[in-house]
Amino acid sequence: MSKTYYVWPLGCQTNKSDGERVAAVLEKLGYDRVDDEQTANVIAVVACAIRQSAVDRIYGKFRHWETRQQSGELTTLLTGCVLPHDKQKLTPKFDLVFDIEELPKLPQLLAQTNLEETVNQRDQMAYFDIQPIHNSTFRAWVPIMKGCDKFCTYCAVPYTRGRERSRPSADIIREVEDLIAKGYKDIHLLGQNVNSYPGFADLLAAVASLPGDFWVRFHAPHPKDFTADVIRVMAQYPKLCKQINLPAQSGSTKVLRRMNRPYTREQYLKLTDDIKAGIPNVSLSTDIIVGFCGETEAEFAESKSLMEYVGYDMAFIAQYSVRPGTVAARRFEDNVSHADKKKRFEELTAVLETTFMANQQPRLGTVDTVLVEKYSKDHWLGRNQHQVTVEFPAPSAANLVGTFQQVRLDKVEPFRFVGTLC
Ligand code: SF4
Repeated sequence: MSKTYYVWPLGCQTNKSDGERVAAVLEKLGYDRVDDEQTANVIAVVACAIRQSAVDRIYGKFRHWETRQQSGELTTLLTGCVLPHDKQKLTPKFDLVFDIEELPKLPQLLAQTNLEETVNQRDQMAYFDIQPIHNSTFRAWVPIMKGCDKFCTYCAVPYTRGRERSRPSADIIREVEDLIAKGYKDIHLLGQNVNSYPGFADLLAAVASLPGDFWVRFHAPHPKDFTADVIRVMAQYPKLCKQINLPAQSGSTKVLRRMNRPYTREQYLKLTDDIKAGIPNVSLSTDIIVGFCGETEAEFAESKSLMEYVGYDMAFIAQYSVRPGTVAARRFEDNVSHADKKKRFEELTAVLETTFMANQQPRLGTVDTVLVEKYSKDHWLGRNQHQVTVEFPAPSAANLVGTFQQVRLDKVEPFRFVGTLC
């Protein structure tokens, strides 16, 4: 029987990065990747515990997988962020459930459950030493740390991924050098809370000093740990994209306290002022939750005014949903109605559209560098360093994927530019 696999990562970039390492382990066991899950013998799900909707999507798959599972044609694996509550319910449905930290032991775990032949124990290596199989030829995720010590009351990550562990900087730099040598152009340094990495500014400077034609980004910083030296380094090194996703989560100090986010509205706003003053042409985005437990109209209005003040180019706006096992689930009531959450979501989306359009006006008519991602419907699509989509017509014969191109920005629409190749 042929050995094929399909990896399904849900949620954030960390899961995508984990998925690339899961792929590497499966390929070492002789499996070949397929792009259609229906032709895979092994499906590995890298789960996301942040929202119930992500968990529901996994349940939705079982009616498609069940028959093939029962006939022995399909083996299903579950890893990633899985809360104990979900693990209990999902374990009987999967052939193997393992913690992502156990990934180096996956061959042994498969052997123990008779899903693979016995393997040599000496092949086992540390998680960070697994060479990922990248899905893209030009964009790569590079984990610099795992876990989180912040314990925001709504968040499952500290329970599913454990405490912070940082990766040695020499290993990170070696992985980035290897990617640059292979032609990668868009390097994303990843961690749940990257700026609690010891010497994060030095790491950024070291990566951005490497020779080659590439961009560097990082996800996700915590406002509490965002230091002035990171702002200085970002301004200094051209390869560091002038774009920061700075999760606010709420514009109300009272709500932030309930969320166990250790900063005030004023401290967050001061930080965004410092970033704008220190990094010319910087673009800010955020993560923000509407309808968190007990959020009043006045508290929501503070989130809205914070968004208006900062003027983001993008915001990942979430309607709060309870995650079982978190402090918020135990301590607070999810008492904002679904209708109010939806209304608040729509109000913030409208603010975002306004600030995005206003921010882009001065950029119209300028020539911007665009990293091209794909060709679709007679147009090339890429992103500028601010992560804004740029669309431009050009002959399809020339393969521009993964190249930097100069594009004049002619027109702006909500969340994208239309331009002309120069
Ligand atoms: S900083 Fe807060 S929201 Fe982010 S991963 Fe850690 S606990 Fe979760």
